[in-house]
Amino acid sequence: MKNDVKELVNKGEMLPLMEEFYTIQGEGFYKGTAAYFIRIGGCDVGCHWCDVKESWNANLHPPTEIVKIVENAKKYSDTIVITGGEPLMWDMEPLTSQLKSEGLKTHIETSGAYKLTGVWDWICLSPKKMKLPTEEVSAKANELKVIVYNKDDFRFAEEQAAKVNSDCILYLQPEWSKRDKVVPLIVDYVMANPKWKVSLQTHKYLNIP
Ligand code: SF4
Repeated sequence: MKNDVKELVNKGEMLPLMEEFYTIQGEGFYKGTAAYFIRIGGCDVGCHWCDVKESWNANLHPPTEIVKIVENAKKYSDTIVITGGEPLMWDMEPLTSQLKSEGLKTHIETSGAYKLTGVWDWICLSPKKMKLPTEEVSAKANELKVIVYNKDDFRFAEEQAAKVNSDCILYLQPEWSKRDKVVPLIVDYVMANPKWKVSLQTHKYLNIP
């Protein structure tokens, strides 16, 4: 990568864009809502069950001017979901400020492992054991979405729930490949602990991105 491009990426004026698409949010509080997804490359959290491992190496995704990203996004939806990868590896301030200046709603899906940057209408925190979220992201999260892969994830979910604000909505979501095994555990857990709700990856059932 040329030095001038590197500098712009470091400032968040360009971002490694993996893909962008208009679809239906499948998970969490906004499930069922049409939204434009912007997937930013780069993640070093290392979840072994990650279903977007192609996102990990930021160098594989072209540095793209945020002006172009915003121009595209605004044609499709007023709800923009920034996902990854781990978007907070980059400075989200320039992108989100431009999206906001166009009157768009900014949502993020993050592990929370990096400093919070950007202007957000909705923060979906999906914390990971390998790289815990920062206190700031936990405190500001609007929804906490814990992926359940095995029984120990219920313990982890409670630990993370103790760190979020009292308005934060709590979700348990089965890891897709383990759904047959963990859905019954989640159902029992949510009935016994109704502060939690079930989140399913409905886009996968709908067979959409
Ligand atoms: S944080 Fe997300 S993108 Fe990164 S490895 Fe985990 S699931 Fe994959």
